Amino acid sequence: MGKVVKFGGSSLATSKQFEKVLAIIREDADRRYVVPSAPGKRYAGDTKVTDLLYSCFRQANKGQDFSETLLFIRERYEEIVQGLGLSLNLDDEFETIRMNLAAGSGEDYAASRGEYLNGIVMAACLDIPFVDAADVILFNEDGELDARKTDVRIAARLEDLPRAVIPGFYGAKPDGTIKTFSRGGSDITGSLVAKAVHADLYENWTDVSGFLMADPRIVKDPVPISTITYREMRELSYMGASVLHEDSVFPLIKEGIPINVRNTNHPEDPGTMVVENTCNKPRYTITGIGGKKGFVSVTIEKAMMNTEVGFGRRVLQVFEEQGMTFEHTPSGIDTFSILVNQRDFEPHEQKIIAGLHRSVQPDMIELEPDMSLIAVVGRGMRRNRGTAGRIFSALSHAHVNVKMIDQGSSELNVIIGVENRDFEAAIRAIYAVFVSSEQ
Ligand code: ASP
Repeated sequence: MGKVVKFGGSSLATSKQFEKVLAIIREDADRRYVVPSAPGKRYAGDTKVTDLLYSCFRQANKGQDFSETLLFIRERYEEIVQGLGLSLNLDDEFETIRMNLAAGSGEDYAASRGEYLNGIVMAACLDIPFVDAADVILFNEDGELDARKTDVRIAARLEDLPRAVIPGFYGAKPDGTIKTFSRGGSDITGSLVAKAVHADLYENWTDVSGFLMADPRIVKDPVPISTITYREMRELSYMGASVLHEDSVFPLIKEGIPINVRNTNHPEDPGTMVVENTCNKPRYTITGIGGKKGFVSVTIEKAMMNTEVGFGRRVLQVFEEQGMTFEHTPSGIDTFSILVNQRDFEPHEQKIIAGLHRSVQPDMIELEPDMSLIAVVGRGMRRNRGTAGRIFSALSHAHVNVKMIDQGSSELNVIIGVENRDFEAAIRAIYAVFVSSEQ
């Protein structure tokens, strides 16, 4: 059926960036539906149009004069329109936005105008129809996406439009009020469109050449990942690597539609293919390493705990009652540890300790703060002998003490807990043994 292409804010920040995007779209006739973000940062320290719009809203909300902020926004679009030589006049659009902001239209309305205006500019450049996302991305009264209705609506609206521009990030509630997704949500719009039209591919164009095997702030020039499965990505993204908005991936899983993350500034790079499944053999044993600092391990010791029916449930219930989620629960015969986010845990600490004493009468509760979790992820690890051995010998050579180990039975990931101060050294050591040495 063709491709749905989404372009992020930095890809559309200036007329020069727009030109790159237009060349990419024109190069492939299959790139039929275009989902633009709002103009993003032009350079480090610049402000995204979306953030300027949030400022406008706050000023308007306080009854302050927001005309100067709106003028800044206007200048961003003028540069794009003029730089591209378009004969597009946005006077009426800006006047409507000004009036609506002054009349107290909501924060989401304000934020959404960045994508809305960029959609109009994009449609004018390509000379193809503009489909307002408010007509096709449908939220319910509570502000939750109505995925089923949205799917039907997009499919019906685009049925007779072989090409169109649909702005990202927002939709509307049944009463017509504009509602946005969370930040970075244009990725979700792109994926909803791709699902509804049964696209062959969802291309997500950004300013990096896909996913990297490790965080470039920790490992120098990490190798890009050429193919990653949804499940691998989930294991890595949950540990902190966010190239795609998490909610953009799930609508496509069931459809088996692949996502290709590409770099607008380096269109020659193949980027990363995110797929439901593949027999493509990964180049390295591991697909990637993710990690996050700031966990605390709560270990409960009690003799004969393994004979107590409902012990684990009662422990987890204490966390549940405090509204806390947990990351991992490694256990021994008489020990049970719960790894939780330290910042979330601290305000509830004493209540949880008291709750545990009450509900399971432990012999001892031990708290181990300042822990990091590292996920070594890869479909290539499956049925592959020696992976765990290599990880732990690399860590031992790097003098990293391993505090916790958890291997999912899917054999897709090994999670390792280390002290925060060993975090970077551990990631570098694992990268070196699996990537540098396999090159
Ligand atoms: N413009 C919005 C943001 O800055 C949405 C997006 O770019 O996807 O978060």
